[in-house]
Amino acid sequence: MTNMKKNAIVFDFDGPLVNSGWDKSIHILFSSFVACWDTGFRKFLHPDNLEIDINKMIQGFVKYPGAPRFQQLSAVVSCIVRNKPESVKEPYELGVDENLQKEYKKLQKRYNEFYSGLNNAAARLFWKPLPPVRKVIETLSKDYDLYVASGIIQEILEKDFDHYGFDRKLFLGIKGSDPAGAIDKAEILKQIKNSGYEDVLFIGDSSKDLEYARKAGVKFFRIKTADDYERLMNQIKNGLPDEQDIWEYTEQELEIIKSKVLFLMKIYASGKKLSYQDITRWINTGRFSP
Ligand SMILES: [Mg+2]
Repeated sequence: MTNMKKNAIVFDFDGPLVNSGWDKSIHILFSSFVACWDTGFRKFLHPDNLEIDINKMIQGFVKYPGAPRFQQLSAVVSCIVRNKPESVKEPYELGVDENLQKEYKKLQKRYNEFYSGLNNAAARLFWKPLPPVRKVIETLSKDYDLYVASGIIQEILEKDFDHYGFDRKLFLGIKGSDPAGAIDKAEILKQIKNSGYEDVLFIGDSSKDLEYARKAGVKFFRIKTADDYERLMNQIKNGLPDEQDIWEYTEQELEIIKSKVLFLMKIYASGKKLSYQDITRWINTGRFSP
């Protein structure tokens, strides 16, 4: 590439480009529960006291925000099965018997379908780009090569990108993960960095994103709200910023996520069927009907 600019800026998709609030967190946890409930992994759950389960699940979840979906799933399942907040590559690592190891494919399939169903409904009804985003992209594209690096599966990422009407011409690459989750954001950032830029800045929204940036040896900036974009545009006048402060979910944030997921888990365990739309509407408005 001869027309490459000196520096590149890479955006995470969920959060920095499209604001989905706590929805994805709730979707990940609730879909993991549904996948266990609907398969042989149900035997590890506590129908009479689902609080036990959500308290375990959350331990795995907080370690993998923004990670590829099957990595997130396996970390949550690992907490349910063996109280260990670590993702696994193969189901035997969970220490379950052979029948359940075979059943794990079914669990992944159920998770995939349910999680995508919830995300699609929420994207249609509620999720939107942060207000300053389009202008920021346009401005930055003049001086920097722009990319997207996301934990979302490539095919879904490209669909989402188009769904929100972002302009592909302003980006040099839109890069997501593979279905197995072997390619993560660190991998993508490394590839971009190695393609010859002097400096690369990754714009993310989770502490996991900072971890990916460090692993790839690139700079980092955190976007949590629209105001952070104003901060970014000010700082960038003096060169690419680099923010290395780690942060965790606050207790309050986790309580909100937990209480919402627990409510949905109880409904699901009662046998009542809700549509994806009902669920996303309840998460976003507190009501099941429009
Ligand atoms: Mg994100």
